[in-house]
Amino acid sequence: MAEETADQTKVIKVHKCPICGKLTDNKTYRPFCSKRCADVDLGNWFNQGYVIEGKAPVDEEESE
Ligand SMILES: [Zn+2]
Repeated sequence: MAEETADQTKVIKVHKCPICGKLTDNKTYRPFCSKRCADVDLGNWFNQGYVIEGKAPVDEEESE
């Protein structure tokens, strides 16, 4: 007797949005669910002061 009720153990091929945690299979904004979440992630990068390659952080506001 084989009971096939444990079907939930099957691997589901969906991605989880790292921003909102929503399941998504959106291929355009992977791994995000939408452009909004992608933008949020990008914003987090800037907010955390990540230095973009080739760009030195401008710290002085004095004009010559
Ligand atoms: Zn999301």
